[in-house]
Amino acid sequence: MRIKKSDLVLVTKGKDRGKQGTVQQTIASKRRVVVEGVGMVKRHMRAQGMRAAEIIEKEMSVSVDNVMLICTHCQAATKVGVKTLGDGSRARVCKKCQEVIE
Ligand SMILES: [Zn+2]
Repeated sequence: MRIKKSDLVLVTKGKDRGKQGTVQQTIASKRRVVVEGVGMVKRHMRAQGMRAAEIIEKEMSVSVDNVMLICTHCQAATKVGVKTLGDGSRARVCKKCQEVIE
């Protein structure tokens, strides 16, 4: 996956289209990511022992195909390329400004 934890992403599909948020978690095996404030669902927690019943809001994962990385250099939602650096390591690059994304 070309999206990593703590990346800033733009949601391009679904009911949260247009929202931006930070990636909290990636699930590579399912090609899904959890983005802060995106795909919020309410969970009704039943009272249990001393704990009162409550409603908590939680992010659901979204498909990585439905988000785009926001480039830290040109601030645009972009496709991510991969290039091999001089020392043989691979880096992600913005396809718009060609800058390496950390
Ligand atoms: Zn860029």
